Amino acid sequence: MPELPEVETIVKELRTEISGDIISNVDIFRSNPIIQGDLPKFKFELKGKKFIDVTRRAKYLIFHLKPKSFLIAHLRMTGKFIISSYDSEPSKYTRVWFKLKSGRILIFDDVRCFGTLEIQKNLNNSNSLIKLGIEPLSKEMSPRFFLRKLSKSKRKIKSVLLDQKIVAGLGNIYVSEILFRSGINPQSEVCQLQKKDWIKIIKFTRTILEEAVRNNGTTISDFRRVDDKTGKFQQFLQVYGKTNQPCPKCGIPIQRIIQQQRSTFFCLDCQKIKP
Ligand SMILES: [Zn+2]
Repeated sequence: MPELPEVETIVKELRTEISGDIISNVDIFRSNPIIQGDLPKFKFELKGKKFIDVTRRAKYLIFHLKPKSFLIAHLRMTGKFIISSYDSEPSKYTRVWFKLKSGRILIFDDVRCFGTLEIQKNLNNSNSLIKLGIEPLSKEMSPRFFLRKLSKSKRKIKSVLLDQKIVAGLGNIYVSEILFRSGINPQSEVCQLQKKDWIKIIKFTRTILEEAVRNNGTTISDFRRVDDKTGKFQQFLQVYGKTNQPCPKCGIPIQRIIQQQRSTFFCLDCQKIKP
């Protein structure tokens, strides 16, 4: 599933490609990615509108349109946007075609069909957006925020960082990497973490996400950029997917455990649970 750096990469590419273009028509091949409103209304709301910007909130892509409305998309597991020419044929995974005045098509493809599209006049009306937690690269991401919210919580740090209602945009790959670089065991209870631990987590969250954005994200399986190039950040991963390979800091084999049905990778020595 694309995480924040991958979505940021896609957003930047789409912004460059489609800003200024106008939707001349919308063809819907499979309606289940649309989570609000009926199909004729969805088409009507989009037809004739101009793309003026594309931005990101957590893992959501937000297409800003004129006259004012917003197309909000979530790629989930396998959704992707592709820009193609008018003479393309829809594939069996094509969900929606946005035909553009420039003679191109913005295609929404989704093999597993979990991705969503939503149209809103105002972003505050979107139920998906209003329940999101803080942005991991924002100023709100501070030790104070976590200490206030979680000082009595016995939840494990990994599940807290993955909780989109607390911090929005982090996923399994980056959380493993952040905790490794911070030297914090993914099974630690958050009530045991001190201010200095949160400082490290916040610092490495920023470093890792910024490095990943610079490298256009991580290509593990299904993530593809709009132009179908792959991201490069996987070359910089230190623990994710490295079971039994030597820890880059101390050399002992990297461990893999399952937390909440997801793989966690860490070093027993560099990420000790606090006594
Ligand atoms: Zn180690």
